[in-house]
Amino acid sequence: MAYVYLLCCCGGLRRARRELSKRGAIVILTLHRVLDDEANENSHSLPGIVIRERTFRKLVEYVVEHCDPVHLGDAGPGKRSSKLRVVITFDDGWRDNYSSALPIARSFGLPFTVFICPGLVGQSNPFWPEQVSALLKMDAASPAKIEDVIEDLKRRSAGERDAYLQSLCKVSNRITNAASEFDQLLSWQEIREMRAAGVQFGSHTQTHQILTTIPQNLAASELSQSKKAIESELGEPCTTFAYPNGNCSSESRQWVAAAGYKQAVTTRKGAWTTECDPLSLPRLNVSEGNVTGLFGQFSPMMFEYTTCWWAWRAALNSKAGQSANRSFDSGDESDGPEEVSSPTGLDIVKIHGA
Ligand SMILES: [Zn+2]
Repeated sequence: MAYVYLLCCCGGLRRARRELSKRGAIVILTLHRVLDDEANENSHSLPGIVIRERTFRKLVEYVVEHCDPVHLGDAGPGKRSSKLRVVITFDDGWRDNYSSALPIARSFGLPFTVFICPGLVGQSNPFWPEQVSALLKMDAASPAKIEDVIEDLKRRSAGERDAYLQSLCKVSNRITNAASEFDQLLSWQEIREMRAAGVQFGSHTQTHQILTTIPQNLAASELSQSKKAIESELGEPCTTFAYPNGNCSSESRQWVAAAGYKQAVTTRKGAWTTECDPLSLPRLNVSEGNVTGLFGQFSPMMFEYTTCWWAWRAALNSKAGQSANRSFDSGDESDGPEEVSSPTGLDIVKIHGA
């Protein structure tokens, strides 16, 4: 926080924003969930994918006043603008995008895109991280321990994750679907209503499969099935895609292209410039923890740091050639695999990543 304050005082944050605007760059933000106090209390989602409703309202107010919010599908870099262009995206298709985010965004005229998994639409508690979190909370695990376990499981195969979930359930005959009514996904009816209100929709695969961990035939089917389902429900082309967990590779990028998508977003930090590959666009993750200040209120300074500063830094690195081929990593900051002790208690070679 002191570092960010210093950056702010010496004009670093303002400069980052100015340089991005000058280059015609677009900053794409990743959000997942917008929760009111009750939902925040009861949800099993990790803090990294949650922003409080009151913080989101302030964030939207700030973006509308100080930036030029644009739709992902309609935007393109290279156009110099007086205000920094920003794209808002939501991953997974949580119901709170309809109940909390939509009314706020509408009241401020903010456009946004939601990436959904058609095979999971209308489901309750469909993702394994929320299920693992719910079960570990029953064992009074600390938030840090829960986060460690989930990060560990992200690097494992679906089979290993299932086995671990089953082992947690067996402890006391619990069921995996310890669903919270607060962890629900959008229904098609809600998706249609949102579309009618101007929200754009893209694919996040059919069942939230991480493309770098599955064979080509399964990936191809996940990519085409989800595209077709969205097109048939909404009656318009679906051309945008978000890589689940942000993981992409040159191979998966080709599969996305072959399925007919025109734009795809990752979780790699950076700004969308004319040098970017449209099928591997960078984004900045926004959550409660990285846009609030000491007293838990929305902080414009933290927002500028989390978005403009990081976007600019990544753009500079990219220009300097310091991150050659970064387009196809998954946020990997390490030089290679590292042996670690696993919080799940199983042997694992951990690969750092998003
Ligand atoms: Zn996702």
